[in-house]
Amino acid sequence: MTTPTSRRRVVLLGATGSIGRQACDVIARFPDRFELVGVVGGSDAVALAAVAATFGVERVAIVNPVPGAALPEGCAVGMDAACEIAAMNADVVCVAITGAAALRPTLAAIDAGATVATATKEVLVMAGELVRARASESGARIIPIDSEHSALWQCLRGEDRDSVSRLVLTASGGPFLRRPLDTFALITADEALAHPTWNMGPKVTIDSATMMNKGLEIIEAHFLFDTPYSMIDVAIHPTSIVHSWVEFRDGAVVAQMGVPDMRVPIALALADGVRLPGVGPHLDLRDVSPLEFLAVDGDRFPALGLARAAGERGGLAPCVLNAANEEAVTAFTEGRCRFDEIVPLVSDALAAFDDRGVLTIDDVLAADAWARAHVRTGAAAAAGVS
Ligand code: MG
Repeated sequence: MTTPTSRRRVVLLGATGSIGRQACDVIARFPDRFELVGVVGGSDAVALAAVAATFGVERVAIVNPVPGAALPEGCAVGMDAACEIAAMNADVVCVAITGAAALRPTLAAIDAGATVATATKEVLVMAGELVRARASESGARIIPIDSEHSALWQCLRGEDRDSVSRLVLTASGGPFLRRPLDTFALITADEALAHPTWNMGPKVTIDSATMMNKGLEIIEAHFLFDTPYSMIDVAIHPTSIVHSWVEFRDGAVVAQMGVPDMRVPIALALADGVRLPGVGPHLDLRDVSPLEFLAVDGDRFPALGLARAAGERGGLAPCVLNAANEEAVTAFTEGRCRFDEIVPLVSDALAAFDDRGVLTIDDVLAADAWARAHVRTGAAAAAGVS
C-alpha cells in the first residue's frame, strides 16, 4: 500500500448542491488524502459558510447570493470571483455546478491547465468542441464524475482505443418506464421527481424521467471519449447496478458495476483514479440477480433520438438542445407546461434554430439565450398565456 506524500488540493465549484455535498462527504472521510482549498456556492450562503468553516478553506465565493444574506467571512461575490477560484492553484477542480452556469468557471479551470473532475454534463453538451480545443491548448485533463462516464472511463483504462467497438450507456428508465403512454399528459412534478434508484438534484431527476438525461450523456460521451455517435448506444437497466459497459472488437465486454452511490465516482475522480477503501456499499452480485436489460422504446422516450440528432448535427445544436431543455424543465416544474410537452418544446427550438456554425464562447452564450427565450414563448403559448 502506498502512502501519499502530500494531500491533494481540491477546489469545489458548486459546494452546496447534491454532488457538492457528497464531494464534501468524501473529502471529510479522507483528511489524509484531500485538502479543500477553495469553494464556490450558487445562492445558499448559509450552507456555503458551513462548508467554508468546516474545512477552513483558503478562498470562498458565491455567485448569486440571496439579497441581504449573511456571507461567509472573506467571501467574494459574482461569476468573475468564481472563475478566479476555479483557476487557483489546485491538484483537482471539481465541477458540481448544475447546468449552463458551470460553463465559464469550467473554462477558467481548463485554461489554467487544471485536472477537472466534472459532474456537469451540460458544459460538454453546450460547448464540447470549445472545451476540447481549450483543453488541448492548456494541457488540462477532464475526468468524468457522471456515473455512466466514470464507468466507461474505468472500463477503458489500459485499453487500446482502436480495439473498442461500442460504448453502451445504461439508463434506469426512470419512474415512467412502465407507465401507460396515454397517461403521460397527467404526470405531476412530484411523480417525475421520484427517481427509482439514484438520489440526485431536481433538474437531473426530471431529465431522467424524460430520458433527456441519457440523451445529454450520449453527447457527453462523444466529447469525453472522442467516439463517433454511431458507436455510442443506450440500454435500459432498471436497477442501475451496471453503470455502463464497453464492447471490444474481439467480442469481450467489460462492464463496471456497483450499488448506485455517487460518492464512488466522486472519490475516484478526486483521487485521479486511485481506489480508496470503503467509499461505497459492498455489492454481492448474488444479491441483485437476475440483472435485467431492455432496448429503449423510442416512442416512450423521444428525447433520446432528439439528442442524438442534435449531437450529429453538431455546431451549436447541442447547446440549443441543452438550454431549451433546461427552460422546458423549469416550465414543467413551475406548472407552465405538461410533462409530455417538455420534449416537443425542445424539438421546436431545434427546428427553428438557424445555426451560424461558429463556436466561440459568445456564440455559445447567444445560442443558449436564444433557445431559452424561444422555449419561454412556446411554453407561454402552450399554457394559453400571451
Ligand atoms: Mg449519469
